[in-house]
Amino acid sequence: MIPAQFEYAAPTSLEEALALLAEHGDEAKVIAGGQSLLPVLRMRLNAPEHVIDIGRIEGLRGIREDGDAIVIGATTTHATVLTDPLVAEHAALLTKAVHHLADAQIRHRGTFGGALAHADPAGDMGAPALALGAEFVIAEQGGGTRTVGADDFFVDLFETAIGEDELLTEVRIPKHTGWGAHYEKFVRVAHQWPIVAVAATLKAEGGTITEARVGLTNMGSTPLRARAVEQSLTGQPATEDAVRAACEAAAEGTNPPSDLNGDADYRRHLATVLSRRAVLAAAAG
Ligand SMILES: Cc1cc2nc3c(=O)[nH]c(=O)nc-3n(C[C@H](O)[C@H](O)[C@H](O)COP(=O)(O)OP(=O)(O)OC[C@H]3O[C@@H](n4cnc5c(N)ncnc54)[C@H](O)[C@@H]3O)c2cc1C
Repeated sequence: MIPAQFEYAAPTSLEEALALLAEHGDEAKVIAGGQSLLPVLRMRLNAPEHVIDIGRIEGLRGIREDGDAIVIGATTTHATVLTDPLVAEHAALLTKAVHHLADAQIRHRGTFGGALAHADPAGDMGAPALALGAEFVIAEQGGGTRTVGADDFFVDLFETAIGEDELLTEVRIPKHTGWGAHYEKFVRVAHQWPIVAVAATLKAEGGTITEARVGLTNMGSTPLRARAVEQSLTGQPATEDAVRAACEAAAEGTNPPSDLNGDADYRRHLATVLSRRAVLAAAAG
């Protein structure tokens, strides 16, 4: 289907984009890479009167180091994140996860910020961002910004802490230099959203896990931390038996959906199996 008609604007500054959002209110929709919004418009699940393209705002793109964090601009493409050496060194979990996101064409158009703002519970960027303790910088009306922690950013299905007249400008990822990382994604067909996926990153010393962070994709209406697994892993040897025992708790506190790809019980089972695989692979390097 062809989208309903809309007015298109391509501001070149953040101020201009925010002014357009303030002017048009809920009749406007921001577009970044368009890889999620355009299918929505084509299926006429949404028909905004104004589409505001933020792709020409220079300051929203790129990856830089800032003290103990790396900062990823909202309109940085997945392809850039995938090949960036700072991300590989300090947030290897993201490199591992983005490798599994869709295909090369979509990774060249879709953006890191767009994927997180879209907040699809099956999206591949949410769980790694949550596991890494990302902080989301949001530009407000009036020129200010506020920073929202990962635990408060994902509110519900397709809903985040970003207000209708606000923009996500960048995401700060605390450095996890030297941590092992792995993203284990279970799909029915290649290049698609996961039925369940697990993002694991951990620090180990002398074969003992000293810190672990585990995120779950598609086990609820938002990405979730497998906190019981994280706690059980801490202080344990990175052996198959110890990891298997800790990962039995992977589905604790989750509320997975049932759909044509699998029911909730099947997803709970997947969460334990994929957590074990992800943690063991992360421990191996
Ligand atoms: C065939 C196909 C397969 C895919 N497979 C996967 C997959 O396996 N895993 C996966 O995770 N994703 C997958 N995707 C989605 C892809 O990752 C998108 O790139 C991503 O979800 C959205 O990024 P975008 O820049 O294209 O956002 P857009 O489509 O431009 O926007 C998405 C939403 O976020 C809002 N938004 C965008 N940027 C901002 C901002 N800076 N501030 C506030 N709001 C903003 C928009 O208003 C819109 O509501 C797939 C897409 C397609 C078409």
